Amino acid sequence: MNTTAMTPEASVGKPAINALSLGAGVQSSALLVAACRGLVEKFDVCIFADTGWESITVYQHLLRLERLAAAHHIPVVRVGAGNIRLDALNPASRFASMPLFTLAPNGQRGMARRQCTSSYKISPLKKEVRRRLGYPHPRRVPAAVWAQMAIGISVDEIGRARDSDVRYMRNTFPLLDLGWRRSDCLSYLAENGLADTPRSSCVGCPFHSDDFWADLKSNQPLEWASAVAFDHAIRNGSARATANGHPLRGQFFLHRQRIPLDQVVLRPRAGGEPEQGCGPWTCPATPPAGGGGDAAGDAGRGVA
Ligand code: SF4
Repeated sequence: MNTTAMTPEASVGKPAINALSLGAGVQSSALLVAACRGLVEKFDVCIFADTGWESITVYQHLLRLERLAAAHHIPVVRVGAGNIRLDALNPASRFASMPLFTLAPNGQRGMARRQCTSSYKISPLKKEVRRRLGYPHPRRVPAAVWAQMAIGISVDEIGRARDSDVRYMRNTFPLLDLGWRRSDCLSYLAENGLADTPRSSCVGCPFHSDDFWADLKSNQPLEWASAVAFDHAIRNGSARATANGHPLRGQFFLHRQRIPLDQVVLRPRAGGEPEQGCGPWTCPATPPAGGGGDAAGDAGRGVA
């Protein structure tokens, strides 16, 4: 596989910036450490797109990464478009729809459209890249000016590799070149004192497995309470749609069983249930490049 996504127009010259999309999960953390150790090309900058609702363990881990990167003269910047939790509950804020589970009055089940990855991760990251290239929106970026963006995709997740959808950015996948699986990343992180690297994703992401929810409930009671309160608050639709006179016909839920989160009988699997983290181009169920609509579907109703 050609692990560098190229568009013909931008296939000349060298990148103006060699960046890492730092999700602060296992794979992107391994890439940052590998860059610090000289195993992969050093990054000019690592960009963390913050939804504002990551677990405290992710933010603590990010602080460790920032210290490590600083010691190797690699800047880490945090970008964002707000706080996904607060924005969803604020009638004055635009609600970037999360992939919530829906239950229609007739019992039909579906999922809401997913806009959160684009709004809270991809857009802020693109904005930062444009800014660093010297062509902030709406300036046109010349064809010969582009950034290389390393994405933490391991061999066992090769199906999640996605091209960038803009000419000024080309995604690369150094872990595929290294032939590393997620287990290799975990071993490498352990060798470098980061054995407890968490998965990164929003605390209240509907894609979470029962394993995650059970662990959150047992070990992070404040974050569990935050997710439970959010689940209750979004039951009848987004605050903004409701305030604008467009209440949801049906209900939203964080858990796939479509019952209140604090009433779900969680069934974590022995040995752990596979769960993917969430990054700008690696969110769960992100459709392949050119692959059409949201794989999470829109069987239910999105919100205004
Ligand atoms: S972790 Fe879930 S809720 Fe957060 S941006 Fe990704 S898909 Fe959306």
